[in-house]
Amino acid sequence: MTKRNNISAQSLAAQAMGWIDPVTKAVVPPIHMASTYERDPDNGYRSGRIYARADNPTFDQAEATLAALEGGAKALIFSSGMSAATACFLALAPGDHVIAPKVMYWSLRNWLGGFAVQWGLQVCFVDAGSTDAIAAAVRPNTRLVWLETPANPTWAVSDIAAAAAIAHKAGALLAVDSTVATPVLTRPIEHGADLVMHSATKYLNGHSDIIAGALVGARDDAHWAKLRAIRVQLGTILGQTEAWLLMRGMRTLFPRVHWACRSADTLAQKFAGHPMVAEVLYPGLPAFAGHAVARKQMSGGFGGMLSVRTKGGERAAIATAARVELWKRATSLGGVESLVEHRASVEGPGTPCPPDLLRLSVGLEDTGDLYDDLDQALRRAHNA
Ligand code: PLP
Repeated sequence: MTKRNNISAQSLAAQAMGWIDPVTKAVVPPIHMASTYERDPDNGYRSGRIYARADNPTFDQAEATLAALEGGAKALIFSSGMSAATACFLALAPGDHVIAPKVMYWSLRNWLGGFAVQWGLQVCFVDAGSTDAIAAAVRPNTRLVWLETPANPTWAVSDIAAAAAIAHKAGALLAVDSTVATPVLTRPIEHGADLVMHSATKYLNGHSDIIAGALVGARDDAHWAKLRAIRVQLGTILGQTEAWLLMRGMRTLFPRVHWACRSADTLAQKFAGHPMVAEVLYPGLPAFAGHAVARKQMSGGFGGMLSVRTKGGERAAIATAARVELWKRATSLGGVESLVEHRASVEGPGTPCPPDLLRLSVGLEDTGDLYDDLDQALRRAHNA
C-alpha cells in the first residue's frame, strides 16, 4: 500500500486526513451552507473566499483527501461524473483531436460522438485494450487520450503507462476514468496519467445516495486552472450536503472496496464454471484478455465489477435479471447493495455491449447469499 509521510492511504481515508474543525474541535466537519462571504472593510477578501460557486469550505476536505489518495497535486469535486469528465474535453479547443475507447461509459461515449463533435473536437474511438491501436490513432493535433480502465461493461483493461508514453510523445495529456478501479486498486498518476476522473457517485461515496464527480490533477498548473475555471463558470459544483456525504463515504472506501473485490473474485470463479453461463468477464480471471496488464497496474484486487454472459442469449439474460430476489435490478455501481443490470437494454441500439451480458456490481452482502440468488435465477430462467 502506498505510504505518504509514513501514513498509509487507508489511514488517511479513514480519518479524512485527520482534520479537526478549528472552531469547535469536532472530528467531523461542519456543512457550510453560505453562498457568499463577507468582504473586508479595506475591500479585500483575506479569507480567500468570495462566492460559493467558486468554492466552498465543505469541498476542501473531500478534495484534499482524494488528491492524497490519488497521489495528485489537486482535486476538484463536481456535480456529477459527467460534469467532471466533460470539463476535460471542454478545456480543449475546437479543432483538437482526442482518442477515446470504443468500450467505455456509454453516456460519455454518446456525448463525445454528439456534442463534442458538434462543438468542434475531432474524436477517434479505438480499441483501448491495444496499445498499438492507441498509437496508430495519434495525429499531429491530438491533445488528449482518454482511458477508462477497467471499462464498462466488459471490464477491458488498458495499459496506463503505455498510453501515457504515447500521449506525452504526441504532446497530449492522458486522462483516466478510474471510477471502477478507485485509488484503492490503481493510482493512474503513478503510471504517468495527467488527470484522473471519477464518477464519485460510485465507490468514492459508496452508498447510492448522491450524484457526484471528481477530477484529480497530477500538477497544479495552467491546465488545472482552466479546469477549475470551467467548474466556476458552468457552475457544475456539488451541493454542500452532497460534498459532506461524499467525504463521509470516502472514510470507508478501503474496507468497502477490499470486501467487494474479494466477493467479486469468488463469484467470478464460481460462475465461470456455471452450466448456464457462457463466459465471465472479470480482470481477475487468469484467462481474461487484460489480466496481465491488470496485474501490473492494480494492487489489492481486481475490482468489484464483473459481467456474466448467459447461455441462451438476450432472452436468458433478461429472464435471469427478472428472477433475482437479493440482487437489485438497477443501473449504477459501487454501492453497498449488489446490482444486476441487462446493460444492452440501457445503452440502446448501436451499443457494443453483447446482448447476453448481465453487469454485476458486487456490494457488501454475504458472498454465498449473492451466489445462491443468482444461481437460482439462472436456473429458473433456463427452465422457464
Ligand atoms: N464513468 C463511469 C465509469 C461511470 O460508470 C459513470 C456512471 O455510471 C460515469 C462516468 C458518469 O458518472 P455520473 O453518473 O456520476 O455522472
